[in-house]
Amino acid sequence: MINRFFLLTFLFLFYYNSSSAQHLINKDSLLAHVQELSSDKYEGREVESTGNELARAYILQRFQNIGLKSFDSSYVHPFKFYSRFTRKTYQGKNLIGYVPGYKDADHFVVLSAHYDHVGIKKRKIYNGADDNASGVGTLIEIARHLTQYPLPYSVIIAAFDAEEIGLRGADAFVEDPPVKLDSILLNINMDMISRNKDNEIYICGTAYSPFLRPPLDSLAKEASIKVSFGHEAPESTGADDWTHASDHGKFHRKEIPFLYFGVEDHEDYHEPTDDFEKIMPDFYHQVSEFILRCLTALELNY
Ligand SMILES: [Zn+2]
Repeated sequence: MINRFFLLTFLFLFYYNSSSAQHLINKDSLLAHVQELSSDKYEGREVESTGNELARAYILQRFQNIGLKSFDSSYVHPFKFYSRFTRKTYQGKNLIGYVPGYKDADHFVVLSAHYDHVGIKKRKIYNGADDNASGVGTLIEIARHLTQYPLPYSVIIAAFDAEEIGLRGADAFVEDPPVKLDSILLNINMDMISRNKDNEIYICGTAYSPFLRPPLDSLAKEASIKVSFGHEAPESTGADDWTHASDHGKFHRKEIPFLYFGVEDHEDYHEPTDDFEKIMPDFYHQVSEFILRCLTALELNY
């Protein structure tokens, strides 16, 4: 279990719990991002590819329109890495913006989703609609909401590159962070959040940080989707343990608490059939609003 120097307590904002009919995120905008980023034009968004570059341009345009602040006057944070599997050196590019907190701008929650996917294999485009155009769509729409309704602390909006090749974007972020590592209170990572036949979303991370659990339990009870906790050590082992399954793993290694939101693997996981048509629009919209409610319901004291 992680010992942190800060305590976390939680405040429920009645407004955010009171009505599921009260939409916080525009469903059409949300779906439009996924439809666009998972279209053939983006060629599966593999790191260093033209499609990856196009995805980056799309996201950057949204960051700019929304009015996110940037560190060092650019949203683009390039990094280099070597892959032992392909024996190649790559250049990746993380896209980082932030919304300043109204009370304490010097502490941060990092909201993240990776925008890369696995590209084209055997002439088939792996569109990666669920993995992870879905996370990016929600990232953009939550960012938009936060610029209108900021939180007490700052929120970093991180679209990571090169997740599919070993969580490289998140690794670059924690190794060369734009803010002091000990000012990061929490990572909330979204990866595959748009479909599940049982309407079920998992939250992984509270076994390591049990203080995060009570407010999430309350929100889960009121949610219109099924919310489950788990896929984390020590209860889970092997492929069932998602502790290092996506970018949040790199925050965990640095002893930063994390919450990962994701669905169980499905038949189109890492297949060329992970397409926009397979997304479950209502479920995806409800999950997105649920994640925003979770983020907003946390009042972090430290
Ligand atoms: Zn993914």
